[in-house]
Amino acid sequence: MVSNGLETLAQLPSSYLYVDPIKLAAVVLVFAIWVLFAQWVDKDTQAVNTFRVLWNLIFLAAGVVGAAVGLFVPLFAVGFPVMLGIHLTVIVMYVVHRNGLVNEDDRVFTPGHFQRLREQGFGGKKKRVEVTERVRLTASTRKVVEIPTEDEEREKYRLIQDLMFNAFCRRADIVELAPAGPQAVRILYTVDGVPVEGESLTRMDGEALLQYVKQMAGLSLEERRKPQKGMIMAAIADHKHKVVVRTDGSTAGEKLTLRIIGREAEYKVPDLGLAPKQLEAAQATKDISKGLILISAPPDNGLTTTIYSFTRNHDRFLQNVQTIEYEKELDLDNVTQNLINPTEATTFAERLLKLVRSDPDIIVLPDLREREAAVIASKAAAEKQKVYVALQAADIIEALRKWIGVVGDRALVAKSLLAVSNQRLVRLLCPTCKQAYKPDPQMMRKLNLPDDKILYRPPEPQFDKRGEPIMCQACQGTGYVGRTGVFDWLPVDAPLREVFRKSSSMSEIQTYLVKKGSIGLQAHALQKVLDGVTSIQEVARVMRGEGVSPPAGPRAAGPRPAARPRSSNPRSRPATGS
Ligand SMILES: [Zn+2]
Repeated sequence: MVSNGLETLAQLPSSYLYVDPIKLAAVVLVFAIWVLFAQWVDKDTQAVNTFRVLWNLIFLAAGVVGAAVGLFVPLFAVGFPVMLGIHLTVIVMYVVHRNGLVNEDDRVFTPGHFQRLREQGFGGKKKRVEVTERVRLTASTRKVVEIPTEDEEREKYRLIQDLMFNAFCRRADIVELAPAGPQAVRILYTVDGVPVEGESLTRMDGEALLQYVKQMAGLSLEERRKPQKGMIMAAIADHKHKVVVRTDGSTAGEKLTLRIIGREAEYKVPDLGLAPKQLEAAQATKDISKGLILISAPPDNGLTTTIYSFTRNHDRFLQNVQTIEYEKELDLDNVTQNLINPTEATTFAERLLKLVRSDPDIIVLPDLREREAAVIASKAAAEKQKVYVALQAADIIEALRKWIGVVGDRALVAKSLLAVSNQRLVRLLCPTCKQAYKPDPQMMRKLNLPDDKILYRPPEPQFDKRGEPIMCQACQGTGYVGRTGVFDWLPVDAPLREVFRKSSSMSEIQTYLVKKGSIGLQAHALQKVLDGVTSIQEVARVMRGEGVSPPAGPRAAGPRPAARPRSSNPRSRPATGS
């Protein structure tokens, strides 16, 4: 049987059975190189944040098919080149794909890459990543973040330094990083309430930055979906700022929001921008021991800052001041901030009732949503406590309509309400570059303003001899520095209480207020224009409710401090173009 078998084998063509050891060695060698390459790809897909499983499958398949072709195609002169061809095609596909995802400096198999290798030697020392501390960062652990020694960490450190330095240069108070497609992360700076697009990052850099900030803020790196919140400190020159760090997952990826807390965190009522008479009236309520003050504004117009400023206005050592909040935006010194946990069974109203019974002097409700709670707050204010309630509303009439609606008892509102405020935030003209001009008299008469006044506005864009824009350093070319509140303030006096009680509808109350000239935001806003602190264009923008889009014009795209040369890195341009 054995000899029979051998005879059969001997009749077969030799190439089926016998592989030349040299050819076998060649195939094994190529395969070994292939395995090394596949291992690099496995790591690299994670580094550049691309489809790891998919590429591993492609490499595995190409490896197996390539080796099979190399070994089993009878003609080695055909099989071996085909094996090399399969391997090379897949490698080129991967390299082209991953190079498209990263910065020029991180691309491989490019002339630049080979030059770097020649300069640094294979496996030799990489050129040290140049970093300096421009913004002093303190982690949530209260430890100052030192410049790392390890190169990969140094690169991340450089990214956060660039981001924070740019944010401070632009005077941004909010910085957002959000995925923009599979390859880029866009950066949005909000400067005085106006969003400005920054240079976008590659997905790899954006991801590295996100993880670095999360780590600094003490957030869970594994949690990528649920919202997380933490705090770091950032100091530039002698100015130290708290920075609230928030992350939130979406189907597109994780989003990072940094809120740089500025001077508004210390504001008291006189800092808000109330007109002199309004301020007098507002301060007069300070010593009234009971009653409800309704503070209102449209979204993104400083509602929280105002209600917190009223809270700080009280002597928090002598008076028992307490808040109930769903989420604490800022810490209030010497104030008990009671947080509502949505998973707890206790409702807002139950919590409020318990608080009222504990008899504090002042109750602050920045986020009141339930009818039951509104009634409890009003009753407490009518009897013995001072209560502040914040409400989103476009004007005083809307605030009143909403409040009367939610309390559902006009007599109770009349008995408890002390004052109502409404507000907008307007940007302040840059004192360095604002331009005086003579406005159109017709427009001034239309606005009920004296027609012989000199007004101010941001300057026309100026260019140097080479056509480069000349930028005002004080405002980075935006024409504005900082914001102030414009207020409408309605004190509730005895005649108005009577109107509340007797009127049968909201429009009756409105007619009374309009007739008496008690309400109107625009006149106060225009007074700030006459005072030369803001422009008529800015008031028009804010009154139109344009909180979210930058004003038209060449400066809309904003400055680009510390921008890298554009030509060297086309991928770092803003994702939206211009
Ligand atoms: Zn300026």
